[in-house]
This record gives sequence, structure tokens and C-alpha cells, in this order.
Amino acid sequence: MAERFYGPLRGRLEAGQPVILDGAIGTEILRRDVTWADHQNLSRPEVILALHADYVHAGADVLSTNTFQLSKRSLLSHFCDEAHMQRVGRPGLIDRPEASLRAAVALAVEARARAAGNRPVAIAGAITTLEWCFRPDLAPDDNAAMTEYVELIGILADAGCDLVLVETVNSVGEAVVAARAARQVGLPSWIAFVPDEEGRLFTGETMAQAAAALAAERPDAILLNCAPPLDCLVGLRELAPQSPVATGVYPHVGRFDPPEWMFTDEYPPAGYVVEAQRWRDLGATVLGGCCGTTPEHIAALARTFRPS
Ligand SMILES: [Zn+2]
Repeated sequence: MAERFYGPLRGRLEAGQPVILDGAIGTEILRRDVTWADHQNLSRPEVILALHADYVHAGADVLSTNTFQLSKRSLLSHFCDEAHMQRVGRPGLIDRPEASLRAAVALAVEARARAAGNRPVAIAGAITTLEWCFRPDLAPDDNAAMTEYVELIGILADAGCDLVLVETVNSVGEAVVAARAARQVGLPSWIAFVPDEEGRLFTGETMAQAAAALAAERPDAILLNCAPPLDCLVGLRELAPQSPVATGVYPHVGRFDPPEWMFTDEYPPAGYVVEAQRWRDLGATVLGGCCGTTPEHIAALARTFRPS
């Protein structure tokens, strides 16, 4: 099943042809005047379904699921420990992450069935670092991370994802564990790092180090995301010459305003495409958008870059 949708896209990646990833999920839910708290996969499924369908109509080849930071660990971070959650939390709360993960994948699959026609559109299960994505100092040790990633990616695979998109990764170590876990589960992986203004990871590690460490784990693509377009450009200059696999870029547009987002008009769709041409010139094949981008941004990318 997975090959039917993802196989043609992998072929395009290998041929250096553009593959269009979708745009923001979390901030796009906010822009539609719905809170992103609890992800809304179970409570407002129609909002998530419509958003995915909009990205399919915009021309996205890959839909990312509404599952960023949706995990048992994230839920438990609200409590002292699991026993505390059992005592004070809603009954059955521990089952909510898996139920929401499965519902999220089902919504993306449904949107594809309704909107994609015969076009191959792949579903990427979107996950991130196990702790907060901008804080590499909080990362769990490799053994704990491996166990959690295998469980998480296993659920996404079982629910119907064609690949896993591990995004906003802040350290080489966690990227390698996540890619290895995907290989163990048997799901293709794309690994996306968040670059700083010098094109390094928040740990100070370089893109050359990241690319070298990932070579043995064979993700299908190494990407950069959730940083301003110019930071991603700087990062891509470092990454592209070193990467053993396809590269790609999906920056954010606007400013982080925790826990929500400040939308700005610095990069309207036409200006975003001008930036994307610079990524293409450096060899990027995967083009999409992170926080603050919209179906209009993705439509502009698809019109400009996707082979018809
Ligand atoms: Zn983002």
C-alpha cells in the first residue's frame, strides 16, 4: 500500500525532481480560529480533514499528519509521573495519545481519498524530538529514545502512513536514533533539522556532521525546517554539498508567540517562491512550508516547481 503512493515520489526524489510537501498544520488550525490544544483530531476532525484536503488541492505531493509532539511523553510532562496522572487525570487519559495519533492518520488518509484522485499523494507521519524541539539539552538517552521512537513510528505505520517525517530535530544523536527506529519498523524516513542563523544545529553540530552520521541510517531525505527562510538557506548551503540523499527545505513565516503564532506578511506566496528558487538552485528537491505558511504558499510552490 505504502509503495503505491510513496514509490513514485521516491523516484522523483532520486531523479532530483521537485516533490511538494504541504504547509503548516498547527498554525493553520489556529488561523482557522480553532485552538490547537489537544490537536483536535478527536474533537474537531472536520477542521483537520478540510485542511489536509486544501493542501491536496493546492498540489502537495506529501501530507504531514497533525501529530507534532503528540506522544505519551508529552502528555506525561503535564504530570509528576504516571501514577500522578492516574490519580488526578481524566480516566483513560494514557490511551489518548495513541487514539489521537491513529485518528490523525485516518484523517489524512481520508482527505487523500476524497481529494487526490489518481495523483500519488503520500502520508507522512509527523513527529519531532521527544522533548521540546528547541531544547536539545532535554533529550532522553539513546536507549529510552529508541524505545519511544519505535513505539511511536510503529503506531504511525500501522495506522497507514507511507513514511515518517521526523521534523524540527535539534541534535545529530536524536536524528540518528529516530532514523534507526524507522528502519527497524520498516517505514521510510525523512529527517528535518532546525538550523540556527549560522546553519548549525542548536547543539553547535554542523550539517556536515549530521549528514555523515545519517549516511548509515539511509533516510530518503534530509531537510531543514521551522526556521526563517534565510536561516534555512544558510543551512542548506552547508547541508546540500554533504548530504548523501535528497535535500529539502520548509521554513516558517512569522514569529513564534507561545503557545500560538504571530502571522506576518514578510513572505507572501509570490515572495516565498522567490526564496524557494534559491533552494532549488542549491539542489533542494523537497519544498514545503512550516509554521505560518498556508495552502496558498503551497499552491504557489506547486505551480512553479512541480512537474506536470
Ligand atoms: Zn514550524
